[in-house]
Amino acid sequence: DSTQGPQIFGHPRGLATLFLTEMGERFTYYGMRALLILFLADSARGGFGFDDKTASAIYGLYISASYILCLPGGWIADRLIGARRAVWHGGVLIVIGNALLALGSTPSTFFGGLIVITCGVGMLKPNVSAMVADLYPEGGGRRDAGFTIFYMGINIGGFLGPIVTGLLGVAYGWNVAFAAGAVFMIMGLIFFKVFGHYLGNAGMQMSGAHGEHSASNRKHSWMIVGAMVGVILVAYLLAVAGVYTIDPLTLAQTTGFVLFAVAIGYFAYIFLFAGLDTTERKRMAVILFLFIGCMLFWAGFEQTGASLNLFAERYVDRTIGWLGNWEIPTTWFQSFNSMFILIFAVPFSMLWVALAKRNLDPSAPAKFGLGLIMLGLGFVFMVWAANIVSDGGKAMPYLLILTYLLHTYGELCLSPVGLSYVTKLAPARFVSQMMGVWFLATSLGNLSAGLLSGIFETTNVQAMPGQFMKFVIFICAAGVVLLLLSRPVKKLMVGVK
Ligand code: GLN
Repeated sequence: DSTQGPQIFGHPRGLATLFLTEMGERFTYYGMRALLILFLADSARGGFGFDDKTASAIYGLYISASYILCLPGGWIADRLIGARRAVWHGGVLIVIGNALLALGSTPSTFFGGLIVITCGVGMLKPNVSAMVADLYPEGGGRRDAGFTIFYMGINIGGFLGPIVTGLLGVAYGWNVAFAAGAVFMIMGLIFFKVFGHYLGNAGMQMSGAHGEHSASNRKHSWMIVGAMVGVILVAYLLAVAGVYTIDPLTLAQTTGFVLFAVAIGYFAYIFLFAGLDTTERKRMAVILFLFIGCMLFWAGFEQTGASLNLFAERYVDRTIGWLGNWEIPTTWFQSFNSMFILIFAVPFSMLWVALAKRNLDPSAPAKFGLGLIMLGLGFVFMVWAANIVSDGGKAMPYLLILTYLLHTYGELCLSPVGLSYVTKLAPARFVSQMMGVWFLATSLGNLSAGLLSGIFETTNVQAMPGQFMKFVIFICAAGVVLLLLSRPVKKLMVGVK
């Protein structure tokens, strides 16, 4: 058994396997995300040359799909193939998708690649985390520590990805940079295979296999998967054949409405028809509160790969005098978030513990308010930077870096508590649905990020300071409202700590 066998640093050896696999996957994901909008908007060096609105909408659809497809990804693992095989096949899809991007000189190949990647991420991401949980069947503090270490793997990948893809992109062009993504996922898969025996039974169990009519249930489930893949494939092929044209902006807006309607419908069902008792109902109201906070947060935060990425490309002075005016690749700015997480994750968790000892630690809802306020304050530096640009100058890099620093502080307030509280607050019979709801919140936030980035006119420098100011005001105001509500909302948690 993985938990009884040899340990490294007091953790099951399988954690090293999952750490390295996820590091490879996040390397690929963030390395590619750093390039995506730059490539879509670029017309001078072989990109597609889309306008900012279209490029932003595609970015939003892509990062949104990466999270919403975690729902079917978790479901397929649970019912049909188990987490272990889902991670493997997800990784293979990610390699194929990135290879298509590397080859994709035409939009149809490129967009096909994006679709394949999102399916791969959906298969891999939720299941690799589920396997981390499997390594610690006893749960508790050791599992939390395991997840903290795993989160470091995520961010080492997130840090290195944009550095490598940016360097390759400048030196050898887009295709080579995209190909690097495929290579790193291949490395992740190699780690997964070679050290697979450390995983013991983790990721081998499925709930569906124990069902009474498991054979016919499974057949039914496979048919659903087949139908889903079929719909995506036919929609894609018809678009490639020119039967209809897809306008990314319209598609993003429509998807946003649909996801939003699903969220409203789901919560309405839960409150009205799910037969909750009073305590469960109160706690569910807290989940709704956290859902809204989560959505707003990612809508602002994910500007990183969108409007802020374009800003770095166009308006930040990236030359380093003492390096013979060498120009920092734009994508390198994407690494600051992960770097700051690696630096500050441990101090932050120590801070919460120290505050808890004095009974001063903020409640989970209050942390959401604080996280949003940090996010909003981060955009203050963008107002400053945009003012310099509207006066005809180039912004200093440290302004963007300070934005990312505050955004990271926000992430450290909000992200670690989110999912863990949702699972604690939900009635046991709804826990796995709630994990799905949480992916939905992230997905909606991500999509909104793309739509909002499109509103930014980074080509109209006079308008930019005011647009960033709106971000500051709106996000901080939302944060203050959440903070003010956090006291009454905390009471609704009814004892959940
Ligand atoms: N940076 C983290 C990751 O990639 C969290 C991102 C998120 O939840 N949206 O896993």
